[in-house]
Amino acid sequence: MNSVSPGLRGVTILGATGSIGTSTLDVIARHPTRYRVHALTACRSREALFGLCRVHHPAVTVLDTEDDAAWLRGRLAESGMDTEVRAGKAALVEVAEASEVDVVMSAIVGAAALLPTLAAVRAGKRVLLANKEALVMSGALFMEAVSASGSTLLPIDSEHNAIFQCLPSEHRAGLERHGVSQLLLTASGGPFRGWSPEALAAVTPDQACAHPNWSMGRKISVDSATMMNKGLELIEACWLFDALPDQIQVVVHPQSVIHSMVAYTDGSVIAQLGNPDMRTPIAYGLAWPERIDAGVEALDLFALARLDFETPDEAAFPCLGLARAAMTAGGTAPAILNAANEVAVEAFLAGRLGFTAIGDLVARVLESSEVSAVTDLATVLEADARARRTAADWLMRQ
Ligand code: NAD
Ligand code: MG
Repeated sequence: MNSVSPGLRGVTILGATGSIGTSTLDVIARHPTRYRVHALTACRSREALFGLCRVHHPAVTVLDTEDDAAWLRGRLAESGMDTEVRAGKAALVEVAEASEVDVVMSAIVGAAALLPTLAAVRAGKRVLLANKEALVMSGALFMEAVSASGSTLLPIDSEHNAIFQCLPSEHRAGLERHGVSQLLLTASGGPFRGWSPEALAAVTPDQACAHPNWSMGRKISVDSATMMNKGLELIEACWLFDALPDQIQVVVHPQSVIHSMVAYTDGSVIAQLGNPDMRTPIAYGLAWPERIDAGVEALDLFALARLDFETPDEAAFPCLGLARAAMTAGGTAPAILNAANEVAVEAFLAGRLGFTAIGDLVARVLESSEVSAVTDLATVLEADARARRTAADWLMRQ
């Protein structure tokens, strides 16, 4: 049993079996005198979650279905472990807001992270935001909840973590007041940078998931390949840093060593550099404002030798422009964009949709959806559900 020692910070990891979840556990395991794992959650990957329980001894785990939870209870009992196992969406919310928890890592992929992440925010936790879809969907509502509860929201997405590190600490008072002229959001350009439209049309899921610099889950890998990931990140940056879409310049930087930059009116540009390893932003978020070892190799500038920069090819990768347009339209448009993209990426990964049709489907759903003001969470969830139905109908007709 995980006894609660004073001084140790209790951590819940939502999406513990994924790429970000396991990197978070790697950093935590390096600092046993600082952190205690309270809860680990997964959707269906029960074997992987069982493996994590044996190493990290959480007090609670959560799986999506009661069947998987029963299986895990059995395995834990055989191993003499008394980790509690819960099932379902309400249990995700419970472990996000539990009183034993100080820090919540939001690393579930997609819209499924929205409710537990908001619960952590409302409970005033330190929220490490790796998931981007929740903030893209709920924007102002999410940021208002952060202000109202006094939750500490720390961006883990490497670009936003870099911008956070390059901004003055009181940046929430507004970018202009601090002399910021532009946020420079770097992008690797994905595995298909420079490819022709004909070659892009024939891309397979395995090709799209083989990112040149980062090892990530399949959904974000596809988003990186279409550049929808950069579009979602542009929206994420607008909300996190109170910026307008035209204050953000996307800079393709194939080496993924500069993780983003902030340009100031006096001509200064401040950048954050490091090897492309998510353990750096994760360690930053866990320990902020202190710094701790993340297990990441020091950057070798001599081996690197050069840094390249290009403008994004928005004709070949239309998803970036679609996301910028959705943010400019405001209201429920980003939630509609996100929902359509989730349906499209799932269909692509299942072999039911071509790579370039991902952008086509998102554009169709945006064109045919009514955008309304975001007044409450129900409006966001309705827009999300409606956009998923529209996208599914479009897919059926293909
Ligand atoms: P992943 O696919 O590797 O892991 C996802 C995790 O979420 C798994 O633990 C899975 O069991 C769980 N999950 C999936 N669907 C769920 C559902 N419906 N309900 C509950 N749990 C569910 O994904 P990842 O690459 O770790 O990415 C996680 C999030 O972090 C994404 O939103 C992604 O955009 C963001 N992010 C990832 C990286 C990266 O390097 N991997 C970088 C920046 C941001
Ligand atoms: Mg990123």
